[in-house]
Amino acid sequence: MSSVNTAIQLITREEAEKGRSVAGSTCSPALAKGPWEYDLAESLAGVPAYGPGASSGDDAPRSTPRQGQLPEEYKLAGDAELDARIRAAKKKLGSRAVILGHFYQRDEVVQYADFVGDSFQLANAALTRPDAEAIIFCGVHFMAETADILSAPEQAVILPNLAAGCSMADMAGEDSVEECWEQLEEIFGTEPDDAGRVPVIPVTYMNSSAALKAFCGRNGGIVCTSSNAKTVLEWAFERGQRVLFFPDQHLGRNTAKALGVPLEQMPMWNPRKELGGNDEQTLLDSRVILWHGFCSVHKRFNVAQIEKARADFPGVNVIVHPECPMEVVDAADGAGSTDFIKKAIAAATEPTTFAIGTEINMVNRLAAENPQHTIFCLDPVICPCSTMYRIHPGYLAWVLEELVEGRIVNRITVDDTVQANAKIALERMLAARP
Ligand code: SF4
Repeated sequence: MSSVNTAIQLITREEAEKGRSVAGSTCSPALAKGPWEYDLAESLAGVPAYGPGASSGDDAPRSTPRQGQLPEEYKLAGDAELDARIRAAKKKLGSRAVILGHFYQRDEVVQYADFVGDSFQLANAALTRPDAEAIIFCGVHFMAETADILSAPEQAVILPNLAAGCSMADMAGEDSVEECWEQLEEIFGTEPDDAGRVPVIPVTYMNSSAALKAFCGRNGGIVCTSSNAKTVLEWAFERGQRVLFFPDQHLGRNTAKALGVPLEQMPMWNPRKELGGNDEQTLLDSRVILWHGFCSVHKRFNVAQIEKARADFPGVNVIVHPECPMEVVDAADGAGSTDFIKKAIAAATEPTTFAIGTEINMVNRLAAENPQHTIFCLDPVICPCSTMYRIHPGYLAWVLEELVEGRIVNRITVDDTVQANAKIALERMLAARP
């Protein structure tokens, strides 16, 4: 099976030859270009943007990091040259460098990864390589921050393209969360109830900035992943009367609903509105306050796609990620993290048809790794995560060859105080048990 990128290149070329639009096949013809064209467009426009793909319509905050220009030689190098240069640099570096590849990263980059996994698995995988001076994280910005928090101070975490952020993580800025917190404290006060539960516990999804993880650490809160969100919410309900959950409303809603929290007790907090767009009584009656954030990759999945899969493939097993909207999770046969999806496929002993609701690079890889099954993405349009897409083998070759020359480029560092507080929230997560 060809990679997502090869499929995009083919479709774009064929449709251009026929003078047709790629709409319906891929979500943007710009996906076929080198991401450096987007780096250039951004610097000319003077404003950051997420690039082509699922998040292209989301607003990037002005503070979103931008990538300077990739040296010309890496833009001009063909696939074979980049492959040879990456392999040669990797060989020279040996155990001095470890390459991490996220599940949603393109195959052309993942093929060089020493470890492939979700963000937390990868940060932990890096811990098994204390000899590595450099951790090259082929994922997005918040993942590199988490790796920096968990790794040794002398280890440098490198993000091959600084513009590889995460639109969902950017939807909860530190200032807007602090403002929300102040407004909530005015309404709820800070005193615990008779059962010793504080008015509100902040819970941040792993897909958030280090600053927000630190905010949770400072304020009695905790981090969660899509694998342990239920356990973490239970931990929070033992200690708090309610939860402020950010940035992903869908993971928060799907998890709280599964725990029996009624929808009317889950108001949404829109940071652009006073009291998040709520009245005081609604907030007082709440159990989970959901931040107005979402993942534009998972927002693309809908119930009509599930109905079509069921009509086309009777008996199909539909599994979606909990970042999908609630009605999609409700209509699926199962919902869970990337690890859950992988395990569900591995557990099928008979040839099975799976329709999967998560990022296309991961779905295609699962299909290639499990030829005994029929596995396809619920979304018929190839629309990868825009920010993962910003990493291309050209950037990987650049950061590796710079390391060979003794230069560290694109280092991601988290301030010591932020690290210390973020670690508190991460350690609470690790200690939380079902
Ligand atoms: S898939 Fe969604 S949550 Fe994950 S990095 Fe991309 S935009 Fe962020």
